Amino acid sequence: MHVGIFADIEGSFGIWRMRQCRMGTREWQYGRACLTEDVNHAIQGAFDGGADKVTVKDTHEVGFNCLIDRLDSRAKYIGGHYSSPSLFGKITDLDLVLYVAIHAASGTEGAFFPHTHYGIFSEVRLNNRRVCEMDIYGAYLGELGIPIGFVSGEDIAVKQALASLPWARSVVVDKRKEAYTSSEKSLRYLKEGRAMLRQTAQEAVRNASKMQPLVIPGPLHFEAVFRTRLLADKFNRWKFKQTGETVEWESENMIDGFDMLNKLTFIPPKIYPFRRQFAFLLRSYFRIKNTYFAPKPNSEDAAET
Ligand SMILES: [Zn+2]
Repeated sequence: MHVGIFADIEGSFGIWRMRQCRMGTREWQYGRACLTEDVNHAIQGAFDGGADKVTVKDTHEVGFNCLIDRLDSRAKYIGGHYSSPSLFGKITDLDLVLYVAIHAASGTEGAFFPHTHYGIFSEVRLNNRRVCEMDIYGAYLGELGIPIGFVSGEDIAVKQALASLPWARSVVVDKRKEAYTSSEKSLRYLKEGRAMLRQTAQEAVRNASKMQPLVIPGPLHFEAVFRTRLLADKFNRWKFKQTGETVEWESENMIDGFDMLNKLTFIPPKIYPFRRQFAFLLRSYFRIKNTYFAPKPNSEDAAET
């Protein structure tokens, strides 16, 4: 069984503020260590549960967040984004995905760093319903026949994910600063929390046959509400239907609809013919930058394992 571990960062154990998720900062360098620990526990759990191959797909921002030299070397690592066969690269042979360190949907009151796909959107709706990333990515993977069987992250993020993925196993992660800065108690919390990640990932993989690919039947109507009208004007270079700050489009299925979302978000028409080369250059640049020119970590007095 080939298990994919998709990694965001906001929902990691040890992370309590936005700056720890912001690429290039010293606090992010600490956040990367937190995420890497979480991912390693999920990898171990996947192997314990019966996976014979594990691939880690790093998805946050430009996609080089895990500290590769600390990552369990049994897993294959895919950093960065692709233009084909999917944004996530070649993933079609995955049997199950475990989604580590997720966050809540754009517009979720009181949530930690809530956003859907990209920070420019104040809300993304699908067939008139506000969705989170697990709806979109889950249905995208679902159309490829791949179920999501595990999520970890803040309680509200997990709740939103499970509304669409009721079969998935989950681990809730505390986002309050005091959970991580009280030394002994925090070390215990981190240890127990990550043991839960490992245990729950194992259960998810062991129960892979009960996990279902999420399919949202088409036709699909997407609405991406930008944070401001100005942003909508700036990003809507493909001239999708636009009313004020809301840009909308239709698709027959999630694979096409998600492609259009990515065009709107990342690939203007001028770049489109060169998207493969463009993605390759970006990946190479950030792989080198984030591997060899990373800042010194600032853990802001967090208890560290
Ligand atoms: Zn993220």
